[in-house]
Amino acid sequence: MVDLKGQYLRVKSEIDAAIMQCLESTSFINGPAVQSFQKNLESYLGVQHVIPCANGTDALQIAMMALGLKPGDEVIVPAFTYVATVEVIALLGLNPVMVDVDPNTFNLTDEIVERAITAHTRAIVPVHLFGQSTNMEPIMKVTEKYNLSIIEDNAQSIGATYTFTDDRCVKTGAIGDIGCTSFYPSKNLGAYGDGGAICTNNQELANKLRMIANHGQSEKYYHRYIGVNSRLDAIQAAILDIKLKYLDEYATTRQKVAAYYDEAFAEIELLQIPVREPNSTHVFHQYTLIVGEGLRDKLKNFLHERGIPTMIYYPLPLNEQEAFKGRGRKVGDLLITKELCQSVLSLPIHTEMNEEQLSYIADNVREFFQKMV
Ligand SMILES: *Cc1c(COP(=O)(O)O)cnc(C)c1O
Repeated sequence: MVDLKGQYLRVKSEIDAAIMQCLESTSFINGPAVQSFQKNLESYLGVQHVIPCANGTDALQIAMMALGLKPGDEVIVPAFTYVATVEVIALLGLNPVMVDVDPNTFNLTDEIVERAITAHTRAIVPVHLFGQSTNMEPIMKVTEKYNLSIIEDNAQSIGATYTFTDDRCVKTGAIGDIGCTSFYPSKNLGAYGDGGAICTNNQELANKLRMIANHGQSEKYYHRYIGVNSRLDAIQAAILDIKLKYLDEYATTRQKVAAYYDEAFAEIELLQIPVREPNSTHVFHQYTLIVGEGLRDKLKNFLHERGIPTMIYYPLPLNEQEAFKGRGRKVGDLLITKELCQSVLSLPIHTEMNEEQLSYIADNVREFFQKMV
């Protein structure tokens, strides 16, 4: 599914030198490497404040803590996403309100959000799934109307750009009140270990986020909030600073892979290729197909036998996970989420794929469907 070794080898000399420099400097926590990455990420995202932290899950947790949400407050979140989003809501004693997603883009819509709002709703977490932005403008009209905070889960879509109707282009993560991202190795901007970041354009929130990420400390040994210990390693920051320079190039490579697949599968009626959200670029964290007529698992097995890895993101709606039974509530029957969990299949997509791999995968997918008809 990924080729982290191949990607490393292309930037090895730069990365190795940066790591050596960190070792020599011995400033392993914060220090110049973290500050440099923070500044460069701020300018890349076009956001005023980036607060680096230990991982994407912490980023989401710290964001919810900084908004001052109280036990019992409701946070609207899609049921079709990675567990972290709902987990932190539950962990803080808040009520996750799990909602369906759009069947084409896999993201929240304004209608879905509005239907879920009650007097207890305080925030929503749009997850920009698989590499493209949620259609934020209509959602922001709803959140303004009800005075709700927006925490973007941008773990999968760093580098994507959303265009508003007035032609304003904003990078995902810099749209809502707070944006959260992850530098888990397989993410589009991946570290060589764990890492994450929080961003905001609000100075007051930025101060609070920064304090909470560091034991709620306002100055050394003076604690204003109950916080956590969540720091980005200097070594990871040094690696990320280098990879950030290549992030747009990485996205272009992923888009080329997606275009290849799109063309190869265009004629297969039982496959739905990824639908593009018209207002967003797509950085293809995943290339996710919808497989018709209950053939998903058969296709997965067929490809597995030919040595082609595939993944199911995600096999079970979050509201049906054992851990969340009796937690929060769901809105409606979440039939789309249920259906997607039965029919989605993600193909290998990464920065190191070559023509030979692509044609082998495409040929085998086509062969499977030729046999089916
Ligand atoms: C990866 C991911 C996270 C969590 O990131 P970690 O760095 O692994 O904690 C959160 N949300 C989504 C949608 C993700 O894909």
